[in-house]
Amino acid sequence: MGEKKKKIVKTIKVNADECNGCRACEVICSAFHSLPKYSGNNPARSRIRVVREPLTDIYVPVFAGEYTAAECAGRDKYVIDGKEYEECAFCRASCPSRDEFKEPDSGLPLKCDMCEGEEEPLCVKWCLVDALTYEEREEEEEEEESPEEMEIGLEALANKYGLDKITESLARMSMSKRG
Ligand code: SF4
Ligand code: SF4
Repeated sequence: MGEKKKKIVKTIKVNADECNGCRACEVICSAFHSLPKYSGNNPARSRIRVVREPLTDIYVPVFAGEYTAAECAGRDKYVIDGKEYEECAFCRASCPSRDEFKEPDSGLPLKCDMCEGEEEPLCVKWCLVDALTYEEREEEEEEEESPEEMEIGLEALANKYGLDKITESLARMSMSKRG
C-alpha cells in the first residue's frame, strides 16, 4: 500500500438546459490547443464537442475522455424529446469505431486536459450563459498508477498508431508545454 496523498479533483459541470449551441467552447479549446497556441481554431481539434439539434433546441456539450484501443461490445442509443440520436452520440471515448476526438492530421486521440496551466478551463470562461461551470475539490489518494499499467497503455497506443506517431505527438506535447 502506498502513502495517502492529496489530489485535486477538477470537475466541469454541464448544464445542458442552458447551452444555446454557440460552439464558443469548441473554438477556444481548439485555438488553445493549436501549435503555436491560438494559431488556428479548427473545431475538429477541440476536446469538447457540442451535439446539436437546433430544431428541438437541444444542445449537449460532451468532453473528450479516455482513449480506447478497442470499441466496446455494446452500444448506447439515446432518445431525447422524440429525437433518436446516433449510436454513441454522447460517448466521451476516442474510439476506433468513429472519428470523434481524434487529431485530424495524425489520428491521435484527443483528451480534455482541463486546460492545464490555466487558472480556469477556457471553455468555462468562454461560455457566456454558464452552461459550463468549474469546481475543484480535494480528495485523499491511496497510491500512484503502477508502472505496469502505464506500460500496457503505451504498448496499446504504439501498436495502434506506430511508434513514430507517438514520438511525434510527445514532441508536440513538450513543445506546447514550453510554449
Ligand atoms: S460555449 Fe456554452 S452555450 Fe456555447 S456551445 Fe459551448 S457550452 Fe453551449
Ligand atoms: S477544459 Fe480546456 S481542454 Fe478541456 S474541453 Fe475545455 S477548453 Fe478544452
